[in-house]
Amino acid sequence: MQQQRDYDVLIIGSGAAGLSCALRLPGDLRVAVLSKGPLREGSTFYAQGGVSAVLDRDDSVDAHIADTMAAGAGLCDPAAVRYTVEHGAAAIGWLIDLGVPFTREEKADGRQDYHLTREGGHRHRRVIHAADATGQAIENSLEAETRRRENIDLYERHIAVDLITSAKLGLEDPRCLGAYVLDRETGHVEVFRARSLVLASGGASKVYLYTSNPDTASGDGIAMAWRAGCRVANLEFNQFHPTCLYHPLAKSFLITEAVRGEGGRLLLPDGTRFMQQFDPRGELAPRDIVARAIDHEMKRLGIDHVLLDISHKPAAFIIEHFPTVYGRCLELGMDMTKEPIPVVPAAHYTARTSTRGWPAPRYRRTCRPGTNRGSRIPTRRWWSATTGMSCGASCGTTWASCAPTSASSGRAGAWSCCSRKYGNTIAISG
Ligand SMILES: Cc1cc2nc3c(=O)[nH]c(=O)nc-3n(C[C@H](O)[C@H](O)[C@H](O)COP(=O)(O)OP(=O)(O)OC[C@H]3O[C@@H](n4cnc5c(N)ncnc54)[C@H](O)[C@@H]3O)c2cc1C
Repeated sequence: MQQQRDYDVLIIGSGAAGLSCALRLPGDLRVAVLSKGPLREGSTFYAQGGVSAVLDRDDSVDAHIADTMAAGAGLCDPAAVRYTVEHGAAAIGWLIDLGVPFTREEKADGRQDYHLTREGGHRHRRVIHAADATGQAIENSLEAETRRRENIDLYERHIAVDLITSAKLGLEDPRCLGAYVLDRETGHVEVFRARSLVLASGGASKVYLYTSNPDTASGDGIAMAWRAGCRVANLEFNQFHPTCLYHPLAKSFLITEAVRGEGGRLLLPDGTRFMQQFDPRGELAPRDIVARAIDHEMKRLGIDHVLLDISHKPAAFIIEHFPTVYGRCLELGMDMTKEPIPVVPAAHYTARTSTRGWPAPRYRRTCRPGTNRGSRIPTRRWWSATTGMSCGASCGTTWASCAPTSASSGRAGAWSCCSRKYGNTIAISG
């Protein structure tokens, strides 16, 4: 007989978006969280560089907004950018309270404070990070807290196959009633019924040849929402990260933008720098400009990759700031303290669509845009912006969502329109 489970809220996805949402829901709600594989196997765990917010006394909300709008090439929704930036520091505070071990340093006046790094297109240092494994630190803290909560049940290796809607059952009153879920251990499909459903299933970058994302980023949430009759939009907006390691064994290993933030230079095979020809900000230009420049040079010269070089910095500095990148490169036979490493642009972030103009505030509220540091390159139009993991309204904020990140696209999930069709369904991930 088919197993049936009943919850107040069913959350599909256990990355930063899904777990933050679960933790911010009232403790008297019965909540189920699904993940396709092990709980941590999503993009969140692999995020390296960090999260932007106004945390330095010399920085300001207005400056962060201005940088974000500029990095967004005029395509950002100003209201969403403001919301995101204004809530950044509070969201970081929430993560700190959860125990996320962000990197600290001693300031010139002897104070201990958080170390902030810089990202492309931004004038201030505002990226808080946990060395170069920020996502792992955040996911670990979120996971630990989630496992402590008695009202939250975690279902690992459970794949949501399709949404159950009233329309599919021939009922009136458009509602999402739950989801059919494949238990990978038993091979059986179970029915999860829920009063509300949250799609926090990450992005769809696996549709590209080169991607920084893990295999879970296959766009399941978008597809399920689409099959349920939701409008999906702006799918041509996809962010490409400029520097993914180019190596047959590296699969999708990202070289954090902070390497360029700390002085890393992009070089052609003959050792010449080229970014200045594309943008006066050089290697610190927004992400989309850098990725396009690399792509241009690769096509112009017929080369498979360019080089990223930070070997002019002291080895101890590189190893302290980039232990994960350094260690992985070393495993593959490259010592980044001594030589440049090969890099290519790779699909990184699935973009979102604006909810502006939606009729009812409650629909708009459900889909706050998050911010993912940096900028993104759409396949047809170029734009840069931020935002990633979101979860604004109903759940508060998530780390990369409404608040902490730097540039904000001001765009909500591409499939978020399901909240318009089904008032009890929201889409929050990226
Ligand atoms: C290498 C890398 C580096 C990054 N660096 C940064 C950074 O420095 N700063 C920043 O702000 N952002 C960064 N990002 C982007 C950021 O990590 C993502 O935007 C963010 O983690 C997305 O969170 P999420 O919860 O929406 O999705 P994910 O963390 O991808 O989680 C998706 C979840 O959905 C589950 N899922 C998917 N489909 C199904 C299904 N059918 N059934 C059940 N479960 C399903 C998955 O198992 C997973 O648990 C980086 C991303 C990558 C890949």
